[in-house]
Amino acid sequence: MTLAVLAAAKAMMTTGALVLPFARAADRLLGPRGCLLTFHRAAVSAAWEQLPNRDFYLDLDFLDGFLSYLVAAGWDVVTIGEALDRAARRDHDGRYVNFSIDDCYRDTFELVVPLFRRHNLPITLYVTTGIPDATLPLWSVGLEDGLLHSERVQVGNETLALTTPEQRRAAYARIAAAWDGPEADKHYAAFCAANGIDGDAMHWKHAMSWEMLDELARDPLVEIGAHTVSHARISALSPEAALDELAQSRRRLNERLGIDIKHFAFPYGRAADCGARDFLLARQAGFSSAATTRKGLLRPGQDPFSLPRNTINGAHRSLAAMEMHLTGLSGTAARVVGRV
Ligand SMILES: [Zn+2]
Repeated sequence: MTLAVLAAAKAMMTTGALVLPFARAADRLLGPRGCLLTFHRAAVSAAWEQLPNRDFYLDLDFLDGFLSYLVAAGWDVVTIGEALDRAARRDHDGRYVNFSIDDCYRDTFELVVPLFRRHNLPITLYVTTGIPDATLPLWSVGLEDGLLHSERVQVGNETLALTTPEQRRAAYARIAAAWDGPEADKHYAAFCAANGIDGDAMHWKHAMSWEMLDELARDPLVEIGAHTVSHARISALSPEAALDELAQSRRRLNERLGIDIKHFAFPYGRAADCGARDFLLARQAGFSSAATTRKGLLRPGQDPFSLPRNTINGAHRSLAAMEMHLTGLSGTAARVVGRV
């Protein structure tokens, strides 16, 4: 074990000792509930420190400790299917949590699912089919990789010298914000050309392939759902185009993996990104549920087509931050300040 891992484990135990009494008191007050947690990527601690977009990744050692903590604290880790069954049963008196990963990158296959297997716990993958089909340029991922592995990059007319993780983080934040929008793919293509990056090779360095998904689909601990074809903001599309994104991603996963795809998650997932019309479209596309990223908890009687989910990112490396989600406090706070 590295020193960093030992330090992380020690910090986890210290925080756990502080947080557990609070969590136990909250459980007596709050009673039965479900909490859906979602994230995108994960990295081992040493790599995480260097990443230009590190808040997009969970620290794998933290996740490992958090899974042990949840089980020790009496939470059941369940699939979305099981969470829906429990939310539909008014007599259900337990506490349950689901983990889902959106988009699905290679580290889901290489790091995250193996970790859940070691704990014998299930995980849900919401796949954007444009990633294994290589029709969706992964511009933010390629930009991050380019900044991480060079000391000097060309961005437009600017030459950037990058030597420290801080410089790389600042460069990533600034460039990603400037590229974000309809021209992002064009900016990324120019960046690849200027810096000698092979866009195809970069895609497969980070993408989940159909071969990987095929293996994961046969794992009883892995539940696979859809997350559109092109990662579109569904509320911004016409009803026809929106239905197409939902139905085509379901059909494509079914065709490639030979399994029925029951669950869907909206890209971005906040109130402005998916609304009442879109929840109906998810039903029309043949799904049994649709998840948002509006914070909150599942209670008996929850509508399956507007499931609340709590996003956890790299900045949230404390059990206290996790307990904010598990107790529903983060959802209450978000509603109070109007961030829904
Ligand atoms: Zn997504």
